[in-house]
Amino acid sequence: MSDPRSSAQNTAPDARSEVTGVPILLDGVTKQYGSRAKPAVDHLTLEIPAGSTVMFVGPSGCGKTTTLKMINRLIEPSQGRIVIDGEDVTTMNGDELRRRMGYVIQAGGLFPHMTARQNVEFGLQLRKQSGDQRRKRAQEMLDLVGLSDHLDKYAHQMSGGQQQRVSLARALAISPQVLLLDEPLSALDAKVRVQLRDEIRRIQLDLGTTTLFVTHDQEEALAIADRVGVMRSGTLQQIAPPQELYSAPANDFVADFVGVTNRLMGLVKNGTIDVFGSCLDIVNDVSHREGKRGVALIRPEDIVVRPATSSRPHATVLNRVLRGSVTSLL
Ligand code: ADP
Ligand code: MG
Repeated sequence: MSDPRSSAQNTAPDARSEVTGVPILLDGVTKQYGSRAKPAVDHLTLEIPAGSTVMFVGPSGCGKTTTLKMINRLIEPSQGRIVIDGEDVTTMNGDELRRRMGYVIQAGGLFPHMTARQNVEFGLQLRKQSGDQRRKRAQEMLDLVGLSDHLDKYAHQMSGGQQQRVSLARALAISPQVLLLDEPLSALDAKVRVQLRDEIRRIQLDLGTTTLFVTHDQEEALAIADRVGVMRSGTLQQIAPPQELYSAPANDFVADFVGVTNRLMGLVKNGTIDVFGSCLDIVNDVSHREGKRGVALIRPEDIVVRPATSSRPHATVLNRVLRGSVTSLL
């Protein structure tokens, strides 16, 4: 698989020069809809450095969209502060704030009566750019997302992937300091999803836009983030670089949500857990007690299948499932 960083030089230089991301701070941000007992977002605290990508991953309903909408002030937090580039967002005019941000949603965000080019030009028109400037910029942005040949198409004449590329081009055309992506790829086929995901990363690295990307797809999150935050019921369970999240999850929920995990019963002894005669190091000791049974969460790639011997217990393979590049044993 190609590293998106390696192709980061391919972007048109004009597109790159104007954009610089800014830091975002969320400080105890909470949203309670009406009098519901449980907040949709519950004391979220996090710093996103300028120019980095943070992915929020979590199941449906955990508060991802609510968080993005609070950042661009489509909804107000019930408590807490959001600070962008050192300024509290509540002191800013909402429309002006949104003009500094690109916002891409799952699907259907294009104006149907406008062509790809007109959709991209729209935000520039609001910024009172001249017709020539707008056309040049729209062309550059549509080149950037690989749509040079589709400038005059309407949404219904494009595939889902192409439409999402136009949405991305439109969001980037205004040289946003912050890019907010709300499951922008979830309506697409697996192959297009991976391709566009890697392109988003390439463009983000090249332009240096501070990006908060939310998804329910853990693979997407691990692939392109500087840091991944795992959300559950409005709270951040852990936020860490993808490799760390995968190898040292803070709890069961994170371990289960990120990657495939085998749950095997074992016995805790001498700071290790004995699973079928193999003593495994405990990476994250949440509730293990010496001499008691405990659940070991083991990544499939850490299991080696060897022929049984008299000193090694037997296991029986019940089924094999081909999953493309790997085969799962059940
Ligand atoms: P996600 O994007 O992670 O799927 P949301 O942020 O959309 O989650 O929703 C978080 C929680 O807040 C859910 O329980 C949802 O039902 C609730 N919620 C979202 N929007 C509203 C609203 N406008 N009014 C009341 N409850 C809402
Ligand atoms: Mg959502």
